[in-house]
Amino acid sequence: MDLLEKKFLLAPGPVPVPPKALLSMAKPVVHHRLPEFSALLRQIRDDLKYLFQTREEVIFFASSGTGAMEACVANLFNPGEKVIVVRGGKFGERWGELAETYGLNPVYIDVPWGEAVKVAEVKEALSSHPDAAGLLIQAHETSTGVKHPVAEIAPLTRQSRTLLVVDAISALGVYPLPFDELGIDAMVAGSQKSLALPPGLSFVALSPRAREKAQKVTSPRYYFDFRRELKALAKETTAFTPAVSLLYGLAEILARIKELGLPRLFRHYQRLSGACRAGVKALGLELFAKAPAEALTIVKVPEGVDGAKLMKLMREKYRVTMAGGQAKLKGKVVRIAHLGYQSELDVILALATLEMALTELGFKLPLGAGVAAAQKYFLENQEA
Ligand SMILES: *Cc1c(COP(=O)(O)O)cnc(C)c1O
Repeated sequence: MDLLEKKFLLAPGPVPVPPKALLSMAKPVVHHRLPEFSALLRQIRDDLKYLFQTREEVIFFASSGTGAMEACVANLFNPGEKVIVVRGGKFGERWGELAETYGLNPVYIDVPWGEAVKVAEVKEALSSHPDAAGLLIQAHETSTGVKHPVAEIAPLTRQSRTLLVVDAISALGVYPLPFDELGIDAMVAGSQKSLALPPGLSFVALSPRAREKAQKVTSPRYYFDFRRELKALAKETTAFTPAVSLLYGLAEILARIKELGLPRLFRHYQRLSGACRAGVKALGLELFAKAPAEALTIVKVPEGVDGAKLMKLMREKYRVTMAGGQAKLKGKVVRIAHLGYQSELDVILALATLEMALTELGFKLPLGAGVAAAQKYFLENQEA
């Protein structure tokens, strides 16, 4: 550690982890076939149900979030089955690639990057494809900073056999996505985003009809097999060696979430994202997303500024890691995450860094205006 090199992580995964969770993961590893592990598992299972707002089982794997996305595709659909894929960013594309990999027949709703899918478009796709076995969507499309209207779409899939599969990797615990109440069939999460943990755990909640479908599907699967994990969980264990240390951290975080209560967490993210957007606007900069997510704020790199240089300056001089754009947004946007162990002052820090770095690169802006707007927002919008 160098005293002059304090680092700040403000990327949309991985995210800063609270010290108490870090310490809990340093505990000696317990064997996963012993009663101590079953006790840990019981607590985690209950608390995951609270977080997902469900009475159903939540399965977890030792993988990044994509593993659980792949598990949904492999367990819920047969080769040749039609699925509707909402494709409005890098992660929507990933649903499509997974569907193609497993020999499904994806039909796409292509959404311009930066926009949310329209409920009417989904309605239209569902009625043109009554044979669709699934609808695959993101809650927050982290590559574009957009929030898709999952709560409005969910009722549309209740009237058919179409399973609603939601990638909530950057959205679970950030805004309300009550799994049972909305009637979602499968919802995916990952540890290194909203759960404020290191990477390495993925999660899937399953509705009764998704569980039934998984029993009949013929697609090949081995490690990522819902049937195996559900059977193991019923016996208070996991099918394979779990990521025990990460589960210690998870137990710690989930207990804290339950103690705080979801409404406070949702309010927290509303405030951080609201203040960040206010700051960006006060600087005369543009937001990329038309329907912005609470998990992160995406700012367009202003005309005449080299996006790669901007990211490098913030990272190397100020040691602030935000994320740049992915795929066709490379060099064009800055992604500021509000996920993980963050407070009001992380938003202020992000805006201050952006202001300084843009000024150094010759872009004219009212220095301090973004910070001031965020401060004002926080003072006027107190925590509930
Ligand atoms: C991060 C992210 C993913 C990919 O997760 P990995 O953990 O990197 O596999 C998928 N979808 C969304 C919405 C994400 O934010």
